[in-house]
Amino acid sequence: MTAVDLALEYGYCDKTIRKWLKREDTPHYKSRSKQPRKLDPYKEYIMNRMAEGVFNCEILIREIKKQGYTGGKTILKDFVAPFRKQFKVVAVRRFETKPGEQMQADWGYLGKFLLDGRLRKVYIFVIVIGYSRFLVAHCTNSMDLESLLLSHQHCFAMAGGVTKQIVYDNMKTVTIGRDTEHKPIWQTRFMDFASYYGFKPVAHTPYKPRSKGKVERAVDYIKENFCPGRHFSDLADLNQQLQHWLDTVANVRIHGTTASLILESKAEQAVKGNWSYIEFLNRLLEEEVVVRRKRSLVTRTRLAKVPATKTLASFDFDAQPSIDKRLIEELSTLSFLDRADNILLLGPPGVGKTHLAAALALRSLEEGYTAYFITLSKLMNTLQDAEANNKLEKRIRTYLKPKVLVIDEVGYLPLNRSMANLLFQLISRRYEHGSIILTSNKSYGDWGDFLGDSVLAAAILDRLLHHSITINIKGESYRLRDRTKAGVSQVPPTKEV
Ligand code: ADP
Ligand code: MG
Repeated sequence: MTAVDLALEYGYCDKTIRKWLKREDTPHYKSRSKQPRKLDPYKEYIMNRMAEGVFNCEILIREIKKQGYTGGKTILKDFVAPFRKQFKVVAVRRFETKPGEQMQADWGYLGKFLLDGRLRKVYIFVIVIGYSRFLVAHCTNSMDLESLLLSHQHCFAMAGGVTKQIVYDNMKTVTIGRDTEHKPIWQTRFMDFASYYGFKPVAHTPYKPRSKGKVERAVDYIKENFCPGRHFSDLADLNQQLQHWLDTVANVRIHGTTASLILESKAEQAVKGNWSYIEFLNRLLEEEVVVRRKRSLVTRTRLAKVPATKTLASFDFDAQPSIDKRLIEELSTLSFLDRADNILLLGPPGVGKTHLAAALALRSLEEGYTAYFITLSKLMNTLQDAEANNKLEKRIRTYLKPKVLVIDEVGYLPLNRSMANLLFQLISRRYEHGSIILTSNKSYGDWGDFLGDSVLAAAILDRLLHHSITINIKGESYRLRDRTKAGVSQVPPTKEV
């Protein structure tokens, strides 16, 4: 019998069989070193302490020694180490609060700012709602009692209410010290205020690090993320900008801990739905990706100045039979972007040119491309301003960056020579570089007129049309459709393009 035969018969690897065959003695299990037993009687106690969040071996050993433990610290450490990770989540969760239960409040120092022409210190009063991590804040020039009460009122208004308790990290502003039993002595006016609003102030107990910290982290977060690069005319302006930032940025982010609530709810669904582990992970990631994408899409759409409601889904193709629906569908795959093709939407007012241009820009944003939407008159204004300030090159470059540049309403306003020149510069620099989606009520034959120069018009059209798709929309204005049906208004005569 060969080693391979034996391996097959006994289900071991043939290498193992050969190793055994070489040996003189019979293989046997080594007796394992004895498990430390000294710790055993204390294990249950230690487990309970870990569940309460105590992993510090110095503390634990002191406690079990009092109970009679005679062993060393190494055995204890080896026992505690694997649990550290496992229990940590549970230990932290103890301090999570129920909805409506608790807010945490504190002052922070925001820094020195130029307000009303003077450099002034700014303090920030921050409240974090324990359950949701919702953040409200109010800035002042002082931390006196007056400012404290005022800031509370502002924050309550922003939060839309108050919780049963408010925990104060920093005692000095709300208490006047501690009595002989170390209980806080509250300021009388502050207590009146609290009872008026119906909350119970709670003094943060020092040396319980886990019961505080939400506010401190919030102050740091605001300092690092709100302040840089901002200017404020006065305190009211600062507070207004702060409120806007809280509404649009800070309170929109998924807080790490809130994310863990999503995790918990997904985990519950997973158990109920009998999901596999991979499926669970997948769905969790999907959630994260969807949230992130949505958030970034909203922001990017806003920055791109694209009217967000003008989507392809909301475009009624039946109302505009002159539009080849399949062509628009083909364009919505965005393959034109790779070729830097231009799209020219031509037609009389109200037929959906702007709508389609915006819809294609939105599709591009959805797919992660950059876009920018601007009317020709606005574009002309900014380019002229830039030219006057010697910043033309920089300005033009910002319009070269986006993958899609929508130039809306070309032809409504006649351009003078210098404007036509600026337009030529922009279009020739984007030529074969990035797509332009352009809407116009003018047929190509009329471009010489509105540009005031037929040679320049020809040069612009030459570059625009070289790689391009022209969509001629005929038909009646969508704006006037219902009114016409109702017999209220006449459709204005439309010009063929
Ligand atoms: P244009 O740019 O051609 O002057 P717009 O795209 O601004 O016209 O359209 C005018 C209004 O009518 C917009 O509010 C647009 O959303 C709407 N609209 C136009 N055509 C359609 C359509 N086929 N389906 C849905 N809404 C349309
Ligand atoms: Mg339009």
